[in-house]
Amino acid sequence: MEEGVGSKENVNIMEVRDLYVRFYTYEGVVKAVDGVDLDVLKGETLGIVGETGSGKSVTTYAMMNMVPPPGRITRGRVVYRRDGKEFVLTEMPESEIRKLRGSDISRIFQEPKAALNPVYKVGDQVAEAILIHRLDEMKERALKELERGKGLFSSLSRSIIGRSLRSEGDPLVRLVKRIPLVRRLYWNPIKREARKEVVKLLGLMGIPDPERVYDMYPHELSGGMQQRIVIATALSCNPQLLIADEPTTNLDVTVEAQILELMKDLKKRFGMTLIYITHDMGVIAEMSNRVAVMYAGNVVEVGDVYTIFKKPLHPYTKGLLEAIPMPGRPLKDIPGTVPNLINPPSGCRFHPRCEHAMEKCKREKPKLVEVEPGHWVACFLHHDEVMEVSEE
Ligand code: SF4
Repeated sequence: MEEGVGSKENVNIMEVRDLYVRFYTYEGVVKAVDGVDLDVLKGETLGIVGETGSGKSVTTYAMMNMVPPPGRITRGRVVYRRDGKEFVLTEMPESEIRKLRGSDISRIFQEPKAALNPVYKVGDQVAEAILIHRLDEMKERALKELERGKGLFSSLSRSIIGRSLRSEGDPLVRLVKRIPLVRRLYWNPIKREARKEVVKLLGLMGIPDPERVYDMYPHELSGGMQQRIVIATALSCNPQLLIADEPTTNLDVTVEAQILELMKDLKKRFGMTLIYITHDMGVIAEMSNRVAVMYAGNVVEVGDVYTIFKKPLHPYTKGLLEAIPMPGRPLKDIPGTVPNLINPPSGCRFHPRCEHAMEKCKREKPKLVEVEPGHWVACFLHHDEVMEVSEE
């Protein structure tokens, strides 16, 4: 596919082209992502939906060039854009990509318990991200605060922080690392500023009494509260692009609704672009502007949320929609299961489960084709229509 999946008027904050990810396991090579093309438009919420094992999470790990071992990106290009600059994440050295992760592109993980360290106070965990990515800003704020103070300690702190802002190689700054008292004079005002920022952020997350919660440990908080802390950490550096990987999967329905509302509110407030991964079509309808449907490592349909729900074309998308429980409608499941990606089906990977499968589907892999503006489908049933129209 040469042009973007999204509308041409919109700016792509991220472009994924011809992406392949493989996992090298003892059982064999898992072909987890197989030629994915996807655009993320600035300011949108792109919902990525599909069954477990469809490659949703792996695709977004590849977008951050952080596919966990034994996985590897074997082909393809991921481009991230900010302020007119392009960053080819698949070609950049790890040290450079690390600067973008957290500050520009951030991720909320599925399981808050795994994302939080049980032995550190939750506030300190959020502050750590701020001290890594926004250290200079915290130093500036600390300087401003210290300017109001009087006394020897205040002026010493001011002098060390001011000099460290100008040059990390300053001899006084180097002393900071060796002498505990000087270290404290340097770090305490900066940490105080980071703490203020965390408390403000926890308040934005709808956490009551954020000052008290700052000093609590993860086990003292409910699942919903833990997820709010994880979201606060992801947002602490004002990312441009936030990837939320099934953030409400293990939460009660009422807590899930609160977190979804919070995410929508924060997206508006921070002006970010959001990628929301889920297997739940209800959540997709609630959250997304556009939807990408994935099946067995392929994107099979992309369109705006109304098109996907009102005029789905791919048999898999139709199957997902028919599987939503509705009063008075018999529940219809998609026959079969997601294939083993060590030996995926030939041609269209959906063909063993597709009631419309043709001979061609077993031999050839359908490309993602734009069947109407902004609506892309990878299915031969609709490619033929496109071909007939163009022949006329
Ligand atoms: Fe079904 Fe063939 Fe379309 Fe695949 S390409 S979804 S098998 S009709």
